[in-house]
Amino acid sequence: MPYLESVEQADDFAQSARDMMRKLGVPANPTNFTVWYAYFAGMRADLTEAIDTLIGEQAKFTAERNEELYARYFTFDTHGMEITAATDQIQLTVSDVLENLEDAQSDASSYADSLAAVSGQLSEGANAAQVRSLVYGILSETHQMVQKGKLLEARLEDSSGRIDGLKQQIVDISRAATTDALTNIANRTYFDLRLRETVASAQDTGHPVSVVLTDIDNFKHFNDKFGRRIGDEVLKIVAHTLEEGLKERDTPARFGGEEFAIILPKTRLDDAIATADRLCRTLSKKRIVNRTSGESFGSVTLSFGVAQYHPGEALDTLVLRAEEALLLAKRNGRNTVVSEDDLESIAANANEPETSISTL
Ligand code: GH3
Ligand code: MG
Ligand code: MG
Repeated sequence: MPYLESVEQADDFAQSARDMMRKLGVPANPTNFTVWYAYFAGMRADLTEAIDTLIGEQAKFTAERNEELYARYFTFDTHGMEITAATDQIQLTVSDVLENLEDAQSDASSYADSLAAVSGQLSEGANAAQVRSLVYGILSETHQMVQKGKLLEARLEDSSGRIDGLKQQIVDISRAATTDALTNIANRTYFDLRLRETVASAQDTGHPVSVVLTDIDNFKHFNDKFGRRIGDEVLKIVAHTLEEGLKERDTPARFGGEEFAIILPKTRLDDAIATADRLCRTLSKKRIVNRTSGESFGSVTLSFGVAQYHPGEALDTLVLRAEEALLLAKRNGRNTVVSEDDLESIAANANEPETSISTL
């Protein structure tokens, strides 16, 4: 349903969005403005729910989180539009096919009528000249039917080719929309979809689900030292190592920037911690080397936060707990794994000031 607001309402929404961004200290650029305008105007129920959950959790609200929200709720639409366009094309092609088939059906029935008429005339008795004329007539109609049949066959073949092409286009668009272009693993959109599916099926089966969040340590320093291009290569290596070190059923995804998230279905917290520990060790042992020149860029380490789904909780709450565990892993010295079980004891030592949106 199209969203309509009056000039006054729009002005109010815009004002509230600006006030909120000032309060949170996030830059009032078009991206951030879109998120808050949509929130105050209630344009996207899923976005409103996500922000309300963050507010409920008294989450730290940063410019990065604002950008993540934008990426999550507003950038998928271009792919959605492309898919809609391809689906529309399929519908048009299918109606073309149906039209062709209807034409063929009416041609076939008039051909049958002609044959019946000829057969009637023949049975009434006809002289040689009449028979010849009837046969010529029927031959010509038969020839036309054969031509039309060939044309129909070619058209159907063409339509079926076009539908196959469009189907492939939809598969490609869906893949691009759910894959991170740099690392070629799942992106944040796919992570969200998959987590929703995994938790829904876990609720049916009673299986546990765990989530791991991991972030490269001191990556800004690495980029500053070796350049962003080498940094990009590191992101690919990390993604590949995560993929290699996980089971088929697990889903590693690029969560944003230099942060990755993993969904571990049928996995309890203890096993998820063991998996994260193993990945942490494997990654820290990897040497980053330029294969052609042999130049070495040392190694990188990652910090890990692990949480298990608590039945009935919001998915954002689960991810937030993993995020908090990850933050504590950073505070604990990095290159380490912290789980939700460790949160309470370590949180007592945390004294970093945080921007909170709890006072909305
Ligand atoms: P910490 O251990 O606390 O995570 O420190 P950090 O330096 O990794 O964290 P910070 O948030 O200060 O910096 C993140 C860095 O990650 C800075 C940013 O340029 C880099 N980064 C994010 N996305 C990419 C990317 O796509 N490619 C490259 N090369 N770098 C990226
Ligand atoms: Mg980092
Ligand atoms: Mg980070």
